[in-house]
Amino acid sequence: MRLILLGPPGVGKGTQASAIVKKYNIPHISTGDIFRANIKEGTELGMKAKEYMDKGLLVPDELVVSIVKDRLSKDDCKDGFLLDGFPRTIEQAEALDEELKNMGIKLDKVVNIYADKEILIERAIGRRICKKCGTAYHIKFNPPKVENVCDIDGGELFQRDDDNRETVSTRIEVYEKQTEPLIEYYKEKGIILDVDGTKPIEEVFETIVKGLE
Ligand code: ADP
Ligand code: ADP
Repeated sequence: MRLILLGPPGVGKGTQASAIVKKYNIPHISTGDIFRANIKEGTELGMKAKEYMDKGLLVPDELVVSIVKDRLSKDDCKDGFLLDGFPRTIEQAEALDEELKNMGIKLDKVVNIYADKEILIERAIGRRICKKCGTAYHIKFNPPKVENVCDIDGGELFQRDDDNRETVSTRIEVYEKQTEPLIEYYKEKGIILDVDGTKPIEEVFETIVKGLE
C-alpha cells in the first residue's frame, strides 16, 4: 500500500498514521517528525528547518524533497509506505511524481482528512507528545491514563513549540494557500479519498480502512 495523508495541521494525520502503518505493516514517513528529530540532534538540517517551523512557515522545497527521496530509496519502502505531511506544495507533489516514476511505482491513495478551523486550533493547542516515542495525546480528547505520562513507554509529554494559537493560525493559512491546491491535483488523478476528520479517532480510522479496501 502506497499512501499519502493530506490535511491541515491538527486534523489527526499523525494519529491516523500510527494506526494505518500498524494495520498495513508499512513505514511511517513524517517530514515533521524527521525535522523535529534533526532539531533535537542539533544537525545543520534541523537548525535550518527550525527557523521556518517556529514561524509556522513551510521549510523550502529543496530541503524537504531530498530527504523524502532518500527515505523512499530505503529497503523498507519496497512494498509500501505512508507519507504523512508530504507533499505540502505542488512543487513537492511534482517532484514526488517524478521520483515514483523513476522507481516504477504508483500511489494507491491520497487520504484527505478535513475539519473546520476552530476544531484544528483546539486540537493542536491541546496536543501533547511523548518525548521518547512521539505518540500524540490530547489533554481533552485523547488524554493519557496518567497526566503528562505516555501510556506506552512512560515517557514525559511535552507541547510542541509551534502548537500555540498564533503559530497554529499561521500554519492553517499556509495550508490553505500552499497545500490545499493538492486536493484538486490528486482529484484529477482519481486517487483522493475524502474523510471527515471531525469524528472520533476510531471512527475516522474505520472510514479510512473501508475506503482503502
Ligand atoms: P502538523 O502535524 O501540525 O501538520 P508537521 O509535524 O507535519 O505538522 O509539520 C510541522 C512543521 O514542519 C510545518 O509547519 C513545516 O514548517 C515543517 N514541515 C513538515 N513537513 C513539511 C513539508 N512537506 N514541506 C515543508 N515544510 C514541512
Ligand atoms: P496532525 O498530525 O494532523 O497535526 P495529530 O494526529 O497530531 O494531527 O492530532 C492533533 C491533536 O488532535 C492530537 O492532540 C490528537 O490526540 C488529537 N486528535 C486526533 N484525531 C482526533 C479526533 N478524531 N478527535 C479528537 N481529537 C483528535
